Amino acid sequence: MGLETTSPNIDRDNLSQRLDGITSHLEESMTGLLSSQHVRLMHGTGRFLDPHTIAVATEEGEEEIEADAVLISTGSRPRVPEWCTPDGERILTTRHAYPPPEIPDHLTVVGSGVTGVEFVHMFASLGSEVTLIVSRQHVLPGKDPEVAYELEENFISRGVKLLKGARSTSIERDGDVVRVGCDDGRTVESSHALLAIGSIPNSDQLNLEAAGVESEWGFVNIDHNCQSNVSHIYAAGDVSGKLPLSSVATMQGRKIAEHVMGLHSERPHRHISYSQAASAIFTEPEIADVGISQADAFSEGRKVRVTKVPFSASAKALINDDPRGFVKLISDPATGVVLGGSIVGRHAAELISIIALCVTNELTVSDLAETLFVHPTLSETLLEAAE
Ligand SMILES: Cc1cc2nc3c(=O)[nH]c(=O)nc-3n(C[C@H](O)[C@H](O)[C@H](O)COP(=O)(O)OP(=O)(O)OC[C@H]3O[C@@H](n4cnc5c(N)ncnc54)[C@H](O)[C@@H]3O)c2cc1C
Repeated sequence: MGLETTSPNIDRDNLSQRLDGITSHLEESMTGLLSSQHVRLMHGTGRFLDPHTIAVATEEGEEEIEADAVLISTGSRPRVPEWCTPDGERILTTRHAYPPPEIPDHLTVVGSGVTGVEFVHMFASLGSEVTLIVSRQHVLPGKDPEVAYELEENFISRGVKLLKGARSTSIERDGDVVRVGCDDGRTVESSHALLAIGSIPNSDQLNLEAAGVESEWGFVNIDHNCQSNVSHIYAAGDVSGKLPLSSVATMQGRKIAEHVMGLHSERPHRHISYSQAASAIFTEPEIADVGISQADAFSEGRKVRVTKVPFSASAKALINDDPRGFVKLISDPATGVVLGGSIVGRHAAELISIIALCVTNELTVSDLAETLFVHPTLSETLLEAAE
């Protein structure tokens, strides 16, 4: 691009301060908003005494709260298998890694799902040597294989080692060395290891039995209104066992508020369609998808029309000097209704919202193709896919 640059230096302390600053800002504005609505905030740990009573353990002691309606939104925590004891120094869970205690010389990441690959990207960018244990033949199980392939290519080009078809069975620390053992006999030695193998719901301390609330594997069972089997007790977020995404938790909260207030019967009310939630993976390149995937359609034997346009055909991508990736649009061949899509490339997480809007509102490829977008933009690639 005719620009000369020097390699940036990484200052871990400044990075951490910046993260803390962003988190505190968000926390303060949310706390301010709640206070302005006269919501009482208590700092403590809650558990049910009966269906209408919560005991809250605070620093000052225990207080009992009576409630007409209760929302359980206690989230989840990283899953830690019995063969591993995270110490927060060299054996890390995702909770320890953001920000990390130090920037590892060599990090082994166990788990190649969404969270695992995001941390691979983050630490590789920070200059760590990274090895990724991939239990199957490709990263991102369940995602479009073409998308996974694009990410793997990028990882390999950045020197990330992929150990495929290997399932970790042990992680041990010996001084400054961490050894990760795999079921096929292979062992990886590194300075740090990071576990990213999913999460478990925070419901074990809630005394759900006292409230008569049913759960499965710790996830509170909910219906389309996010109500548990006890009608005045709702659940939202990771503990509800639906999609573990902040966006989904927020939407569930909104729907629950409407339901508790009785607003759902006064105006048009849509139930959440979890299969239409857009999600993104913040790697390099960025990845995002929504709705039905090509692989889903294939496995269901459903006829779909798939259009794929590479960003290399986009003027804006060339101006950005980043023509990597593509847009894939999935539509119904009979009606033209947009059913889903995947995007790999710069700003994929922003661009996917356009497809999400189409999927949620059953817009057709013609609706999309007839919209006048700004030129030059990356979003024009969506129009081309729709044409
Ligand atoms: C590494 C990582 C990256 C992620 N990135 C994204 C992303 O990019 N986009 C996205 O949409 N989602 C992302 N997620 C998922 C997202 O963070 C969760 O889906 C979301 O935070 C769930 O919200 P929640 O309210 O259910 O739980 P949380 O946000 O976990 O909040 C639950 C709260 O309840 C508290 N609590 C627990 N038990 C009790 C109790 N008994 N009494 C009182 N309080 C209690 C907890 O301390 C916590 O403060 C990511 C998750 C991880 C781990």
